[in-house]
Amino acid sequence: MNHFEEYCTKFVQEVGSKEGAISPVIVSSASFAYGTPEIGEGIFDGSIKKPLYSRMGNPTTSKLETIMASMDEGIGAVATSSGMGATALATMSLLSSGDEIVSIGGLFGGTYSYFNETLSRFDIKTHFFDVDAIEDIINAINEKTKIIFLESVGNPNMRLPDIKRIASIANTAGVALIVDNTTTPMSISPLKLGADIVVYSTTKIISGNSSALGGCAVFRAIHEGKDKFKSPRYDFLAKFIKGVGAMALIPNAKKRAMRDFGMSANAHASYQTMLGLETLPLRMDRIVSSVAFLARELDANALIVNHPSLLQHPHHELYMSDFKGGCGSLLTLDMGTKEKAFEFLNRTKIATITANIGDNRTLALHMASTIYRDFDIKTREFLGITDGLIRISIGLENPSDILEDFLNAAK
Ligand code: PLP
Repeated sequence: MNHFEEYCTKFVQEVGSKEGAISPVIVSSASFAYGTPEIGEGIFDGSIKKPLYSRMGNPTTSKLETIMASMDEGIGAVATSSGMGATALATMSLLSSGDEIVSIGGLFGGTYSYFNETLSRFDIKTHFFDVDAIEDIINAINEKTKIIFLESVGNPNMRLPDIKRIASIANTAGVALIVDNTTTPMSISPLKLGADIVVYSTTKIISGNSSALGGCAVFRAIHEGKDKFKSPRYDFLAKFIKGVGAMALIPNAKKRAMRDFGMSANAHASYQTMLGLETLPLRMDRIVSSVAFLARELDANALIVNHPSLLQHPHHELYMSDFKGGCGSLLTLDMGTKEKAFEFLNRTKIATITANIGDNRTLALHMASTIYRDFDIKTREFLGITDGLIRISIGLENPSDILEDFLNAAK
């Protein structure tokens, strides 16, 4: 059976209602009337489960959160205003000044600058490592380390982390593992592989049509017996564990990040994101097979293609064993120079030039002159950004049309 079949049933059944309005209802209200002061008090102390204020939760958004949590088999989820919002929520909820992060692998430019420029201003240091630098990663973990962070597929360096192995390192060290699964929803289930929190930019393939900025963090349950979150490293969690047990990471994220930073999702974007989710498995399936076809054919036509489905890719074996549902919509082309890359982008008729990925349309972007323009040469080298690098996100178009267009553009 096709890997995505199970999700086809799940998403359409979970998004639609069997009674009343089938399509999710958009509750477009910033605040909610409590009726009586007693109910107001109950909502604030958590004994009454009704909406408090949309910065802290909204009924439309809450439906999206339930579906996202079920996709990853988490205990709960918190939707946010953007993917960066989800990363900020998950990380800020665990960090204090003086803490450290171990970041593994290729990293989206925004996440890199969040760690390197923004968090460093608050005395939070990030150590960056390649996915294969396992010894260095183990040696870098110390008593100040609160988070190990990785992307399921390095964007745009296309290097693949061994998530199971890194999760086992995180568990041995008693440190939280956060996985940005933006490019591989459904094909990779980080919580099942041993991660603690998964973050998404739902702006990408989950919505799929460039209509809604959004993000989501999915949390695992706190275990009943021993759990790394019950250690002194995460002592601030104790009161939430005492209050809500297995759910503790959710109020922790809301009270230590969302309440004060306000990266909350809005009901309209949550609605649009759910419409995207309904067709995600179908789109993902097609895109993953188109990407593999295009990587193979472009490579056969002597273009410099980076994608782990290719035999020469250093993580091809890991791709075959652990990424059976593919690794999302991305591949990269190295045209050698900025001029050649610009020529390609000026000639392609199919690709839309933009700084997004995971859209229904094929998208392309020259990396060094855009997202990575302010990065120094050493950092660019570490992130795999060469002068001629074009990141391509394959869409739903006929793959043979894309191939023909790309071969023409590369002439
Ligand atoms: N994570 C990855 C892998 C991304 O590619 C992006 C976006 O470009 C983000 C996070 C940030 O998402 P957003 O643009 O929704 O804030």
